[in-house]
Amino acid sequence: MSDEVRRPHLTDADCPTSMQSAIAVRDVSEEYAWLQGLECTCGGVGSFRLNVQALVQEEGSNFDALDCTCAQCGEQRSFFFNVDAVFAAYAALLRPGGGDRKP
Ligand SMILES: [Zn+2]
Repeated sequence: MSDEVRRPHLTDADCPTSMQSAIAVRDVSEEYAWLQGLECTCGGVGSFRLNVQALVQEEGSNFDALDCTCAQCGEQRSFFFNVDAVFAAYAALLRPGGGDRKP
């Protein structure tokens, strides 16, 4: 665990509510970790519940779109994460002789 004290807030300018502000992740679990630390405008922390997760492709990049609802105030938001690194890791594993598997 890091000592990061700053938690993301729903009204942050860098809140990934569009593909332009998508957060790049190396593992899907990072998306859920981010969501759990998110503070809603109602004060709820980790109060957003995932409704639908969808893969969106745009300009050669892959994005996870997470449609969420705050369990406390009912606020609905979509959050975007760039999952190109996740795809690249899978592609490396599927490639014959690829990946970083040790003998
Ligand atoms: Zn809320």
